[in-house]
Amino acid sequence: MCPQAAALRLTYPPRLPLAQLPTPLQYLPRLSAEFGCGQRIWVKRDDLTGSALTGNKLRKLEFVLARARELDCNTLITCGGVQSNHCRATALAGARLGLKVHLLLRGEPPGEIDGNLLLDYLAGARTSFYSAEQFNRELPQLAEHWQSHYQTQGDRAFFIPIGASDGIGLWGYLHAAEELGADMNGAGMASAHWVTASGSGGTQAGLTLGAQLHEVAAVVWGINVCDDEAWFVNKVNQDILDWQQRYQLLEAVPKVEVRVLDGYDAPGYGKANPEVYEMIAAAARLEGLVLDPCYTGKAFYGLVQEIGRGRFADREDIVFIHTGGIYGLFPERGKFHFKRETA
Ligand SMILES: *Cc1c(COP(=O)(O)O)cnc(C)c1O
Repeated sequence: MCPQAAALRLTYPPRLPLAQLPTPLQYLPRLSAEFGCGQRIWVKRDDLTGSALTGNKLRKLEFVLARARELDCNTLITCGGVQSNHCRATALAGARLGLKVHLLLRGEPPGEIDGNLLLDYLAGARTSFYSAEQFNRELPQLAEHWQSHYQTQGDRAFFIPIGASDGIGLWGYLHAAEELGADMNGAGMASAHWVTASGSGGTQAGLTLGAQLHEVAAVVWGINVCDDEAWFVNKVNQDILDWQQRYQLLEAVPKVEVRVLDGYDAPGYGKANPEVYEMIAAAARLEGLVLDPCYTGKAFYGLVQEIGRGRFADREDIVFIHTGGIYGLFPERGKFHFKRETA
């Protein structure tokens, strides 16, 4: 244990066991041969934290929902895009715990209920749709409005920020970093680069701080799918500060280095270029690994480009964190073009 971790003794707060852990670490032989330039590409299968209730948000929700329980809340309010994986995970986790869930969604109600939104409704979540403009401008006020609305009805509502990325959710990927350190030992890997898609920054924050606190020889990179490098550097530091303040760890943590690979978010959040769809098809064909167009497909495409530029050349092994997102694939079915040959 490193001196910091020893000093902190990282006492994890209460946690609800919602995720199937540990998730597997798998080697990708054919993707490595095709795109690895001599390096080995591995995947940490956080898409296997469950089936419908799955993905990276679940690790954070284990701690966030334990906190909601501690506060005797019977209702969860959270927010995100119409196809938010985080909202779907919250809707299903809430149903599993017998809690009411209200989702504040950015965008117009779609004509067809598909993908994550279908699961939101199956889980019985209530939804409110807001234009992107109003959502971006008024989210804190909307959250407050609904919280007091539930209070007047005799309910107690707990608000979860976008992506469950805050000082509470951070524990999820602090723990994952510890798990991945053990995976690396098991695989005989002395050091590695870890690469994750970054959307609200919480996964990257937890992994970056976790690698440092658990003294894992890993260099952590986020590939942003929205905003830009400066936004993520700030957000990761903000989440870490929130964590330090909530758990009185103010003196304990030195500054972390936040590494962002900017430039793979085009043509904007929730959309992807044809190269990304080709990468998704290649991963499925070569390894049976299903990526999504919003997060993991873009990030894996970015990973391959960066391998080509020698970005990770100082270490033999690269671990891609598969953060989930499979249900976001289905509403984009029209972007794939298959030859429908019959034998
Ligand atoms: C939310 C999400 C991410 C990004 O994680 P953050 O912690 O929000 O940065 C990556 N991949 C998938 C599939 C997600 O749903």
